Amino acid sequence: MAQVSVDLEEVLKDAHLPALMTALVHMTGDLSWLKPEWTPAYNPLSRGDTGIPEAEQAKIRKAAAAAIQAHLDGKPLALPSPDIATLRRQMDFVAGAPIPEQYVDFLVDELTLKGKSSKDPQFDQPKLKDAARKLKVLVVGAGMSGLLTGIRLSQAGVQFEIVDKNPDVGGTWFENSYPGCRVDNANHMYSYSFEPNHDWPQHFSPQPVLLKYFQGIADKYDLRKNIRFETMVETLAWDDADSVWRATLKGNDGKAEIVEANVVVTAVGQLNCPRLPDIEGRESFAGPAFHSAEWRHDVDLKGKRVAVIGTGASAYQFVPEIAPDVAHLTVFQRNPPWALPVPHYHEDVPEGMKWTLEHVPYYDKWYRFWLFWMTTEGFLPMVKSDPTWNGSPTAVGPENAMLREMAAQGLAAQVADRPDLLDKVIPQYPIGGKRAVLDNGVWLTALKRDNVSLVTDKVVKITPKGVVTADGVEHEVDVLIYGTGFQASNFLSFLKIKGRGGRDLHEAWGGDARAYLGMTHPGFPNLFTIYGPNTNIVVNGSIIFFSECAVRYIVGALRMLAETGARSIEPKQAVYDTFNRKVDEANAGWAWGSPNVSSWYKNSFGRVSQNWPYGLIDYWRATLAPNPDDFVLERPPETVA
Ligand code: NAP
Repeated sequence: MAQVSVDLEEVLKDAHLPALMTALVHMTGDLSWLKPEWTPAYNPLSRGDTGIPEAEQAKIRKAAAAAIQAHLDGKPLALPSPDIATLRRQMDFVAGAPIPEQYVDFLVDELTLKGKSSKDPQFDQPKLKDAARKLKVLVVGAGMSGLLTGIRLSQAGVQFEIVDKNPDVGGTWFENSYPGCRVDNANHMYSYSFEPNHDWPQHFSPQPVLLKYFQGIADKYDLRKNIRFETMVETLAWDDADSVWRATLKGNDGKAEIVEANVVVTAVGQLNCPRLPDIEGRESFAGPAFHSAEWRHDVDLKGKRVAVIGTGASAYQFVPEIAPDVAHLTVFQRNPPWALPVPHYHEDVPEGMKWTLEHVPYYDKWYRFWLFWMTTEGFLPMVKSDPTWNGSPTAVGPENAMLREMAAQGLAAQVADRPDLLDKVIPQYPIGGKRAVLDNGVWLTALKRDNVSLVTDKVVKITPKGVVTADGVEHEVDVLIYGTGFQASNFLSFLKIKGRGGRDLHEAWGGDARAYLGMTHPGFPNLFTIYGPNTNIVVNGSIIFFSECAVRYIVGALRMLAETGARSIEPKQAVYDTFNRKVDEANAGWAWGSPNVSSWYKNSFGRVSQNWPYGLIDYWRATLAPNPDDFVLERPPETVA
């Protein structure tokens, strides 16, 4: 018997039991691992608890250890490719409830059990390969979506260049280096579907770990040779006659260069342009003042009086980190954030879990599957507006009111010893109106510190010495930090884009950015925007999933160009208009569309310009491949012999 250097039964104490038992079906071919009484309860906030008594769990681990040992000793997998009926039993077991039929193809694709996915580029015929080689794509941004685009284009054999303003890859994970920055999506799902990481140190790892992951991806796929760093794309102009985009690039050395590309893909995120609040006297502050996304690591906060304006997702992460170091911290809050209990938010991934992810075949796939399914709908049903709701305006329906009650109780319990904070920390807007933060107690622990004050009076002015609130108090501080978010609805504001006939994209938008499926724009051929208008999610899924769907669609559009010999592709105006009308109607039906909520999801017209108002499955289906009927394809002029 081959010796393994671990005590398997001990190691498996850290494993996620439902995923383990499902993986064991592949190893043993024995479906009795999927006992109905062992299935976990469906709960997006749970950790897959099965309620199996400890003595029985020990028996399961013992049997599992024997099966794993046999596999390590060379026993082949009994069921590497289960039939669909078996797969469905496995999926239902992990899910904790029967999965409705309409999700099955979508989930099987996400599971990629056989290593193949609808997201793999299909450029396999010689004609397509030849056409692909003649295309050149310019990608703006080397963050999560830009790197993904580079990977898929290189797999399709398409030439591409990625341009990024930063000196390295990573995008948001490069720029946001504030203390405490970490991913707020479960990390074993927040990774490319084809690039799992079995070594995430935490369930929600810190920013340096995420940055390292994306740097590693750039190296593994040899993308750096295709990336121009420290370069801005300043203008894009479509040449109608030649059917190419001409882009003006400007390097840090100030030199401009014009490059041509058949296709441009922007992959710059929605949250890449910090927003400083429009407060009188903002420029007059005498000390250091900076935004969370432009953290001044050269400013030592130790022993200083510090003000933080804003209590959104970023402040929520850095306030608990800096509070113990500063002399005094004054947090200026307009609205408190909603928080959902996630006790393991800062916890390490146990070593046994890492071992199981790495060594037990299919365990990683099923664990990811479980995470994915828990957030496929996630809290969506609980943030849906009920048009007949006539209860309090602090909720949008009865289920939303229940979620609110659960979250409010969690917050109230944490300030039971500080009744003065109670009214300040319970939000008055419906839960789901903004992205809820993950609560393991550190936020309110920080706000309760003796050296921290939570100020809810309106900020009216900034002076050289500090911050003045509506009650006339001047709060004197040494350092001012803005946790005030991003200019999210000003899509592509750094970029001048002239499309067909010299039409300007920003003028066409008139400050109200829209797109078809977030990606394409009538009058702007061969232009694709990833994480564009109306593709953000609030309470479900991971944005990497959206990017993978978007890139599949874009590669599908390139395939359409290659197959038809067309020079350009753009959506029909009517298709775009109908899509946007439906999106607006649908967004009104969620908490974030409620008139009682103001957030970065709405633009200056009050329109929800950021969010996808449907399920993940709907984006997956809509982006399987571009529908030729939705587009105008421009053929090259006939060549006369
Ligand atoms: P944000 O959620 O938009 O929060 C901005 C904060 O600033 C809010 O509390 C806002 O108050 C406040 N504010 C703005 N102007 C103000 C003013 N004039 N006076 C007082 N307060 C003012 O921004 P963010 O925290 O940077 O987060 C943005 C998004 O980035 C998040 O929603 C999330 O999607 C993403 N994010 C993700 C992570 C992660 O994955 N780990 C971390 C950070 C951010 P109101 O609420 O009253 O508007």
